[in-house]
Amino acid sequence: MLPLFKSPWLRDDHAQLADAAARFFVERWEPQMAAWRAAGRMPRSAWREAGEQGFLCAAMPDEYGGGGGDFGHEAVLALELAKANNSGFGGGLHSAIVAPYILHHGSEEQRRRWLPRMAAGELIGAIAMTEPGAGSDLQGVRTVARRDGDDYVLSGSKTFITNGQNANLVIVVCKTDPQQGAKGVSLIVAEVEDEAGQPRPGFSRGRNLDKIGMQAQDTSELFFDGLRVPAENLIGGVEGQGFAQLMQELPQERLLIAVSAVGGIERGLQEALRYTKERKAFGKAVWEFQNTRFQLAEVQAQLLAARALLDAAIDAHLKGELDAARAALVKSWTTDLQCQLLDVCLQMHGGYGYMMEQPIAQLWADARVARIYGGTNEIMKELAARSM
Ligand SMILES: Cc1cc2nc3c(=O)[nH]c(=O)nc-3n(C[C@H](O)[C@H](O)[C@H](O)COP(=O)(O)OP(=O)(O)OC[C@H]3O[C@@H](n4cnc5c(N)ncnc54)[C@H](O)[C@@H]3O)c2cc1C
Repeated sequence: MLPLFKSPWLRDDHAQLADAAARFFVERWEPQMAAWRAAGRMPRSAWREAGEQGFLCAAMPDEYGGGGGDFGHEAVLALELAKANNSGFGGGLHSAIVAPYILHHGSEEQRRRWLPRMAAGELIGAIAMTEPGAGSDLQGVRTVARRDGDDYVLSGSKTFITNGQNANLVIVVCKTDPQQGAKGVSLIVAEVEDEAGQPRPGFSRGRNLDKIGMQAQDTSELFFDGLRVPAENLIGGVEGQGFAQLMQELPQERLLIAVSAVGGIERGLQEALRYTKERKAFGKAVWEFQNTRFQLAEVQAQLLAARALLDAAIDAHLKGELDAARAALVKSWTTDLQCQLLDVCLQMHGGYGYMMEQPIAQLWADARVARIYGGTNEIMKELAARSM
């Protein structure tokens, strides 16, 4: 594979973290992936290991137990995880999606209460927006938080929640005023387990969902049936701010998905090159056929282009200049490309490409969801078009 251009935002400390993460994900975690896929989840012990290695909350300030880094650190971790073909670990969502809600919108007391334990891997984060009846149309959520004394009482159902089986800290997107649309939405942190690690009364986990790919990821249903949560767990302390908080944080979520997409393409191309140089047909390596060479040269060119777009977006984000519209287009374009290019790479494997024993099969199956989650690519284009 040709070396990619050096990312303009990449500093030495980012590169050092990338090297350490690459080694750890490949040497320590990759041998366990098959067992984790069979189990449908990664164990909580892996989360604590990630915490010890400094791979959780890398961009949270030191004073809250984090790595004191920036989004560049989260980006290199997501890239290396994707390149290690690990779609099970929800550490990116935990560190770069859940934790920022607490850092940017939570009170000082909330930050001190949750972030250090999240950085250690003791608390595992999830964000529960989607419901059986409301995905793209978030204003339509029906989960309700009813105020009762010093508590909120949560009732409703969530589905497709990343880290759903492992999570013990869930940001619940709910209505504190069910009569309102966006203005009635609030974000409430639910610590869903008691000190003994048992689900609190009023909370239960549903199925660990059976997916096309990402088998080691515990994507689940969650049920709230009268779960009492202290009123002080309302993020920001004022009701009705949830929708605005989501709109502020979603660009980073979408950028992170784009990072994983580009990492996945990179691994896919490596796999196609390795395989076609080994595999023989008609007395020569498959790599020798002009079709293979042209197609993979084209994948390489598109990978270089995708990486350049991604780097520009990361650079803008690090300067606080990435708007929601461009983040949406970067997400939709890179994930569409991911599916297209991984399909080419799979084709180059012939029948073996359809077998799960080849890494390309997993990469291909895992990629499909990237066009759906974090907001579907149709919604991404709609969002961008509004500002065009
Ligand atoms: C593996 C996985 C992990 C996930 N993780 C999480 C998570 O951690 N937390 C969470 O809250 N959610 C999560 N999701 C949910 C995900 O974000 C939603 O599935 C997604 O937003 C789409 O919602 P939906 O499934 O209800 O589809 P729908 O909204 O029902 O969409 C169905 C189709 O209609 C299209 N459509 C809808 N509205 C429009 C429109 N206005 N214009 C054009 N087309 C439109 C969509 O693009 C789509 O093609 C996850 C999903 C998966 C599959």
